[in-house]
Formats: sequence, structure tokens, C-alpha cells
Amino acid sequence: MRIDSNTSLKNNIHENSLTKTMTKLKCQQVDIGETCIECKKSVKWGTGLYVNRLPADNDKYIGYLCAECNFYECDRCNKKIYCDEDCTPYDVYQDHEPSEFKDGAYRVHYECLTKEEKLIMEESNK
Ligand SMILES: [Zn+2]
Ligand SMILES: [Zn+2]
Repeated sequence: MRIDSNTSLKNNIHENSLTKTMTKLKCQQVDIGETCIECKKSVKWGTGLYVNRLPADNDKYIGYLCAECNFYECDRCNKKIYCDEDCTPYDVYQDHEPSEFKDGAYRVHYECLTKEEKLIMEESNK
């Protein structure tokens, strides 16, 4: 019996697309590309959110975090702290590195440091 090469090729293609479908079902995260995974705004070039975007993913999406969603909350005033504006006990005490400030706060604005903490920070950064 002659093997029909066309038929076997078709079977191969069919198997491939089946594998692809199964992979898709297994993967729960959706790749949303150049979009913020929190606010779903576009972070493409020219949107104004391109510069400070960060590659990120969560349970549902693979994409980016825009600068507006990439922030911490200050433990003292509860306002947003954007990246690089945060002060932790490590910044203040350097190698002593206590895990928190005296009042239990961990991440705060520079402006929210106490006078004493600011002084220590200036001293240790000399
Ligand atoms: Zn966002
Ligand atoms: Zn603050």
C-alpha cells in the first residue's frame, strides 16, 4: 500500500494545532503586551507612560506596570510613594538595618522621617 504523503501531512498539522490549544488552556495568564496590568492603560511609546513602565505580571496578566500604578504606600501619611522616593530603615541606619522604624513603620517619604531619623540618615550618608 502506498502511503499518501498528503494525508500524513494533514494529520501532523492537526496534531500541532491541538497541542497549541492545550497549551493555551493550561496557561492562565494573558499576555496583554504594552498595557498596564493594573489600570489597563497603554504604555506604548508616545503615551507618556512609556518612560517609567516596568515589565510585570500578576495572576491574570503578563504586561507592564505604568508609573502611576508602580507605587508604595507611606506607612506614616498613607499617601503614594513613587519608586525611588521611599525611605526604609535601611536607608537611615545603613548597616545596622533594623527591620522597622521605632513606631513600626517601614516605608515612608523622606519628608515623613522624624528630625532624628533625617539627622541619622544625613550622618550615615556622609
Ligand atoms: Zn497603570
Ligand atoms: Zn509620607
